[in-house]
Amino acid sequence: MAPIPKTMSGIVIEQVGGPEVLKWKTDLPVPELKEGEVLVKNEYVGVNYIDTYFRTGLYKAPYPLITGKEAAGTIAAAHPSVAAQFPVGTRVGYLADHAYAALTAVPASRVLVLPDGVSTEQAASALLQGLTALTFVREAAGITPAPEGTEGPWVLVHAAAGGVGTWLVQLLAAVGARVIGTAGSSDKCEIARQNGAKYVVHSRDEDVVARVNEITGGHGVDVIFDGVGKATFDSDLEMITRKGTVVMVGNASGAVPPFDILRLGPKNIKLLRPVLFNYIVTREEMETYTNELFELISSGKIKVKVHEEYPLEDVARAHSDLEARKTTGKLVLKL
Ligand code: NDP
Repeated sequence: MAPIPKTMSGIVIEQVGGPEVLKWKTDLPVPELKEGEVLVKNEYVGVNYIDTYFRTGLYKAPYPLITGKEAAGTIAAAHPSVAAQFPVGTRVGYLADHAYAALTAVPASRVLVLPDGVSTEQAASALLQGLTALTFVREAAGITPAPEGTEGPWVLVHAAAGGVGTWLVQLLAAVGARVIGTAGSSDKCEIARQNGAKYVVHSRDEDVVARVNEITGGHGVDVIFDGVGKATFDSDLEMITRKGTVVMVGNASGAVPPFDILRLGPKNIKLLRPVLFNYIVTREEMETYTNELFELISSGKIKVKVHEEYPLEDVARAHSDLEARKTTGKLVLKL
């Protein structure tokens, strides 16, 4: 077993701002393990839109901050209280804070041993976005497989070629939903179609509301998954059908401002703003969904699509690309 160094490299945010505030450092202290924690040597770190919210200050955190919510690698050390479950060298993935670093101390309850059929890169690319899509389809929207010989619900997925969008579209297509994907370029529309969207709408060139009305023959959509937020929320209320479900997934264009709840009444709309982490609070919830996710990946039923592997030092470029709508699928940092 290699000795644990005293210092490590990583990315620190000292103050909120643009991608330039993500600073590469080589002399960060290696975290000391507390009871119930393991030290993971990160090999791949997933980049998620939430990382940009902590960088810009939309979501609050104490600074200086090492951000990052997911990674995969190997166990470098374990507190004696959990050492028996996590031998050094075990391949693991996790959902926890401070992933933008060479080494991260993680509560063992948030760590998952990786099966042979899931690569370390796939785990770091899939955990957060894949579990978001799985839990939101199942628990937020309550979508179940369409019975044989019937047509599934009309479902609109915004940013259908993005990270979460790529997962949502594949999962929804697999259960027979009639998926309409929006995307901001022709290339992205093609990717959304390849992901399984039956219909695609170019959100910068076309009138999305009019196209959805046309595609659904005036019915509107039964469910909307919206990770764009501020820019699309009002039109969601137009496109949703009576008794439909609008799942606000995130804030890529900004947070939805406070609104008048009476606007839900004319169509008895169900509106949710769920958070992945609150669907996987218990170990049982986390393992149930993760086992399913790993099976979907190892069986090839769902493809993990990586846009680009960026060196950890290059994380500012990854954030710039993500926020400039230049990416599709998942962005990962390689150590
Ligand atoms: P994406 O890969 O989907 O990137 C965001 C996409 O949003 C862009 O590619 C772009 O696609 C679209 N977009 C539209 N308008 C804008 C805008 N003004 N600025 C930036 N992007 C815009 O990111 P992620 O998959 O990482 O995340 C998607 C959403 O899901 C985010 O809102 C994120 O916060 C949310 N999320 C929420 C979770 C939860 O627990 N609630 C968990 C995980 C993610 P296009 O050009 O095709 O329109």
